[in-house]
Amino acid sequence: MSTSTDNASIVSPTTEIMTSTVFDELGLERDSDNIYLQIIGAMLHAAEILEVPHHIQLILAQPKNEIMVHFPVLMDNGNYALFKGYRVQHNNALGPYKGGIRFHPHVGLDDVKALSALMTMKCSLVRIPFGGGKGGVKCDPRALSEDELMRVTRRFVCAIAPQIGPDDDIPAPDVGTTSQVMAWFADTYMQISEQTNAPAVVTGKPVEFGGSLGRDKATGQGVIDVLAEMLPDIGLTFASSTCSVLGFGNVGSWAAKLYSERGGKVCAVMDHTGAVYHKDGLDITALDEYARDHHGIAGFEKTPSGAEAITEEQFYSVKVDVFIPAALEQMITKEKADLLNCKLIAEAANAPMTPRGERALIARGIEILPAILCSAGGVTVSYFEWVQNRANQYWDLEKVDDELNRHMVLAARRTQLARHRFGVDMRTAAYIGALEQIAQVYKVRGIFP
Ligand code: GLU
Repeated sequence: MSTSTDNASIVSPTTEIMTSTVFDELGLERDSDNIYLQIIGAMLHAAEILEVPHHIQLILAQPKNEIMVHFPVLMDNGNYALFKGYRVQHNNALGPYKGGIRFHPHVGLDDVKALSALMTMKCSLVRIPFGGGKGGVKCDPRALSEDELMRVTRRFVCAIAPQIGPDDDIPAPDVGTTSQVMAWFADTYMQISEQTNAPAVVTGKPVEFGGSLGRDKATGQGVIDVLAEMLPDIGLTFASSTCSVLGFGNVGSWAAKLYSERGGKVCAVMDHTGAVYHKDGLDITALDEYARDHHGIAGFEKTPSGAEAITEEQFYSVKVDVFIPAALEQMITKEKADLLNCKLIAEAANAPMTPRGERALIARGIEILPAILCSAGGVTVSYFEWVQNRANQYWDLEKVDDELNRHMVLAARRTQLARHRFGVDMRTAAYIGALEQIAQVYKVRGIFP
């Protein structure tokens, strides 16, 4: 990893590098406020540096399939509501499409397209034999009853069932979906398809229904595995470092828990309900229990934990070594980036920063470990779950953790190597590490006919 002086001279993936002629050929605007175009711009920038053949750049700049469905669901009050769902299949050169299903009020086509492209890159960077996909239903799962949630899930599966399958496209959990949702998903698919025993159609299932040990914590574990590899480069260890975590859902809470288990101090956490701080490190086990019972962390300061409540601005300004954004996309705007007081950012969420936010951070010499590397632990253990389902096997936790660590460490080294070889920022380096594999596979497969 280079010093801050080196970083200041590194070009960041923003509007200025949306220079690829692919944008004009496909009639895409150079709009850096659009998350899909941002991601494609950064990917094409890396592809140019790696000299990926032009026709492969064209293929990767658009998803293969964009599926949009509408379906009615009976609500508890006896009325029917119409829901909109998406499944975008970005690329399957390396294997079946793979990626989560998100239930959120702001799900839209461009985000799902962007996230599906990130999945293609993630799977390739960690060298698992999957392509990239993503899906979602525009709904607020917190406002649905358990029964409504189940009916939304089952009807969504019916709508997309012809397009998915254990050899074709394998969904998984994402924001707003849980292992229970995946259990309903698998059950519905098995009821309506010809395949009565196909748990591998979806990953992130409960362990008793074909889920893998270690899948729940996998994304958070992957962040920690990458940090273990990268922290020494800036002269830190877990035990000597402090961090703050944005988001306290599955990924944020596991990352925080594992960070503190390694001896690090998690000084500040913020979620959608509030923010809390402790200068000597928060008690993450207590915070996790509290957040489960109270559906958020607000009010934790009233427990005898020694934590104090802080404002959003104070949260972003806390001086820490590592900042872990583990919430939604595009939350780190330029204004938030200017407040941050850290040395290293580990992106546990997908695309957590805007281009202006990212540019400001790079100019200040803050190192950014990109999402396609840091957040790839979840899909990696999803791959292990799929392998176990296909082979009718159950791996123990030690094997899952060891294999995950191996994939994450190799992906981190691949990224560092590309960074040194091409003199680029970490994000571009990670894209290069991913594109090397995809370009090679296209080269040997060729383009049909
Ligand atoms: N939704 C997760 C992600 O964005 C996991 C995807 C999967 O396990 O397929 O990486």
